[in-house]
Order: sequence, then structure tokens, then C-alpha cells
Amino acid sequence: MRATIMHAPGDVRVEDRDKPAIQRPTDAVIKLVAACVCGSDLWPYRGADKLARPQPMGHEYVGIVEEIGADVKNVQPGQFVVGSFIASDNTCEICRSGYQSGCVHRQGVGGAQAEYLRVPLADGTLVAAPEMPDHEKIPSLLAASDVLGTGWFAAKAAEVGPGKTVAVVGDGAVGLLGVLAAQRMGAERIIAMSRHVNRQALAREFGATDIVAERGDAGVKKIKELTGGLGAHSVLEAVGTQESMLQAIHATRAGGHVGFVGVSHDVALPGRDLFSSHVHLHGGPAPVRQYLPELIDLILRGEINPGKVFDLELPLDQAPEAYKAMDERRAIKVLLRP
Ligand SMILES: [Zn+2]
Ligand SMILES: [Zn+2]
Repeated sequence: MRATIMHAPGDVRVEDRDKPAIQRPTDAVIKLVAACVCGSDLWPYRGADKLARPQPMGHEYVGIVEEIGADVKNVQPGQFVVGSFIASDNTCEICRSGYQSGCVHRQGVGGAQAEYLRVPLADGTLVAAPEMPDHEKIPSLLAASDVLGTGWFAAKAAEVGPGKTVAVVGDGAVGLLGVLAAQRMGAERIIAMSRHVNRQALAREFGATDIVAERGDAGVKKIKELTGGLGAHSVLEAVGTQESMLQAIHATRAGGHVGFVGVSHDVALPGRDLFSSHVHLHGGPAPVRQYLPELIDLILRGEINPGKVFDLELPLDQAPEAYKAMDERRAIKVLLRP
């Protein structure tokens, strides 16, 4: 089968690999219908994460179940499924409390930018759609696999709700879908921080009421100006750098909440800053599995259209161009068709 492999920073190739097979009775193998490049794939692409060996890429996926292991009961061959980037049993105490990404049996799912994918712990990880979805719903269902679920968690972690003012740091797909999540959760005001005209437009479409183009201290100052000097109730952080974390913390009012979902890279929070801020911090890898049934339902009923974050679609063989387009910020997010 064809699969996307990263050999070194900037060096992504589509190569022939063995088709994955069932290894454990709890596995499923799915035939991918669509996959995509994640903002987090750009960390190794840009050399910010080290690669020990050539790595199969991709962790966001929708597909059709091809084969199941002997113990799999919840999904059947032929079903259309959406899964999370972290496989979970969905039965342990941590899963039952809603933190499937912290499952005691969690495993990473990788290699989804390919024709086929092995999904461990299939019963706890995959959610089947009630029927084969329409073609135009595929991008939105793919978004549910990570970026929508992650934006949703950021909003939950930041305690977004009716009457609240929300600020979103980061205008990648997760930040933009954090705006959508905040809108669905009833936020009164949503401030998107973005300096890119097309991303600002999408943020507005998803429900942003204000746009702040400034970043860092200037961005914080602007948020304070827009909130009577107090800061936002809820701030979603979807970047993962020192600057974006401090921007999020400083833009939050005393007693407010930061939901941080940008994969943290060299973030070191000054204790004094944190101590005097009075903010709640909650975040990490999103428990996407918890939200999948609800998100799939909202998408299939046509209530949300998160698939709009995909502004470029390419055949799998052009995965190297997909990485380049996202790295150069020519595309927000690229969908790959195997
Ligand atoms: Zn991702
Ligand atoms: Zn678990």
C-alpha cells in the first residue's frame, strides 16, 4: 500500500509499505477514506521534534472497517468509522471519567496518511456512523477525529459557557474550531487572535465576534481593552509556545480559565506570573473519544460544518506538497484522499 513516511525535517515521501494486519484480537484494520496533515506534524517537519528513524505519519482518520480481531464487538467490517489519535479501552476508571486520552491502556495511533491503518483497542477507540455518510460530510467527520475534538476540549477545559467572553490564541484549524466550539457552547463574545485575512474570515464564519491581530503583550493589551480592563473569562490556547501560553494566561481575568491544547514545546511558566494571575490551567491531549458520538451527530444533522478548515485537497501521492503548503501557511489544513 501507499503510505506517507517522514525521513527527516522537510523530507516527506510517499512509499510502498506492507498493508497493516491484525496483530492483537482487539485491533481493527480500516481502509482510509480520508486523512490529513496536522499542525503537530509540522513540529518534526520543521526540525523542532527529533526523528529517531523514518516515521509513518498521520493520526487523523476516517475509514471503512476492513477487518477486526477476534475480540472486537462494537464495530463490524463495512462500517464507516471515526477514531481518535489516542487509542483507549474506554472502560478503565480514567476513560469513564472522560479522559480517554489518559487511558491506563492508551496507545498512540500512527500512520494514517496511507491507504490502510491498524487501530488498536478498536472497541474503545472507533465510533461507527449509523450509515455511510454523504460525500460532502467526509471532511467534517475527519475534522472530528482531532482538530474539532481538540478545539471542543479546549473550550470545555476553559469552562466556556453562556454569558462568557472567550479569547482564542492560535488561528490554525484547532483554534478556528475552538471558536466554533465556543459558539456552540453559548459564549457571548468570542475574540479570535489572528493576523491572516482568510483565517479571520473563517473565524467570523464560525462565530467570532471580534478579531485581534496583535500578538504577545500587544495582543494581551488589546484583549484587556475589549474586556473593560479585566481580561477574558475563558482563553483557548492552540499553539504550544512560550509566547502563546503567556499570552493566554495574561489575557485571562482573575478567576478565569485557560484551556491549553497546543502541543507544548519548551514552555516554562514563571512561577511568580502564575501565582499572581489567579487563573485555572487545564489542558493536554484532548480526550476526543469522549466527544465523538456528539460531534458525529451534530455533523450528520448538518448543525456544524467544521470541514471548512480544509482549504486544500490533494491525492495521497501528493502528501509532500500538503506538508509544504501547510508549512508555508498557504493552506490552513490539507485533506488527503488515499
Ligand atoms: Zn492532529
Ligand atoms: Zn481506559
